[in-house]
Amino acid sequence: MSSAETLYCYHCGQHHPREEMRQIETKGGKKWRCIKSIDATKITSAQRDAFGKTVSAENRADNQTRIKARTNADRLVAGR
Ligand SMILES: [Zn+2]
Repeated sequence: MSSAETLYCYHCGQHHPREEMRQIETKGGKKWRCIKSIDATKITSAQRDAFGKTVSAENRADNQTRIKARTNADRLVAGR
């Protein structure tokens, strides 16, 4: 058995050493993908999640400000 065994990485479209590869389940069946590309995707999706949470929190704060502003406007109208 050769120590220089490589496997085809469907993500990069090239061969990597077997010890850098992980077999993963995809819609098309089991495929080999390198750890580097898996880690890169994990980081990217974690950053995307963090970004999404920040945006939705800002949207919530924005909505609350708008609701408060409308309530104040209603009070002004009612006071007349
Ligand atoms: Zn790869």
